[in-house]
Amino acid sequence: MLPFKLVYSEKYFLPIGEHVFRADKYRLIRERLFALGLVDDSDFIAPQPASESDVMLVHSPHYVNKLMEGSLSAREELQMEIPYSPQVVDTFLIHTGGSIFAAELALKDGVCVNLGGGFHHAFPDHGEGFCMMHDFAVAIRSLQKRKLIQRAMTVDCDVHQGNGTAAIFGGAHTMPAALPSAHQASVFGLAGGKMLYGNSKDVFTISLHQENNYPMFKPPSSIDVNLPDGIGDDDYLAWLDNALSSGLRQFEPELICYIAGADPYREDQLGGLALTIEGLKHRDELVFRVARARDIPVMVTYAGGYARRVEDTVTIHCNTVIAAKEVFGS
Ligand SMILES: [Zn+2]
Repeated sequence: MLPFKLVYSEKYFLPIGEHVFRADKYRLIRERLFALGLVDDSDFIAPQPASESDVMLVHSPHYVNKLMEGSLSAREELQMEIPYSPQVVDTFLIHTGGSIFAAELALKDGVCVNLGGGFHHAFPDHGEGFCMMHDFAVAIRSLQKRKLIQRAMTVDCDVHQGNGTAAIFGGAHTMPAALPSAHQASVFGLAGGKMLYGNSKDVFTISLHQENNYPMFKPPSSIDVNLPDGIGDDDYLAWLDNALSSGLRQFEPELICYIAGADPYREDQLGGLALTIEGLKHRDELVFRVARARDIPVMVTYAGGYARRVEDTVTIHCNTVIAAKEVFGS
């Protein structure tokens, strides 16, 4: 029924107990898509788990060994903010395999949505903020290694900065004065936010996030848009449009990894922005339209979403699929 595939596995459920991170959201998204009559079984495709050697394209052998042997320190487990178990390791491997698969399918079909993944706080040598393995960084490195692509762009619209992504791919911020286009706040008349530019090599990283939120230390992305608390739909969309245009002026990716976090939502428990459900759907449409206009394949991952009502998180994530259908199906 869809002109692209949805990558999903029942094994996406993370066994982490009672948690603000509702790990049942993946199953609920799938059920809602069926309830809306948007999908049938043929739209879904199940991933294989990533291999240890895939994971080591991004993560250090030392860290991967600790995960496999269960020898993380108490401090490392605390920093991850989810309880360690071998089952949780297996779950991250399947999400990572899902992102590798979604990236491959995006190259083939123009777009693919992984109904999981987006673990952008994982670093090469440690996990943080509910993220044990950096699924889409592994996917990018896997495609590069197989010479399927050379250059990728990450567009991270989770409310939290993509610190792991920046640490893996990013570079030091340049002085704003070095770039004539760096006066965005005044040029575009947008209130509050700041756009910072960094270097990029083969992966260009864009992150739009609430400045006053986790992570405290934000390693530089290629473009960081630090947004003030409480920003609404219009300002957010203007900043996103601005960041995409600026990024695509500087860099020609062969794949966009879109991190469609649901947590910029006004009712999110861990976010402090004020986007509406409609505004978040416009955000998705904007990313898809820009990619389609330039013929750049897009793979989507879901990342965060901690709305007071889990139904809202599910609606926001389902809308990403609907937006993809509207933009790529026409
Ligand atoms: Zn988040």
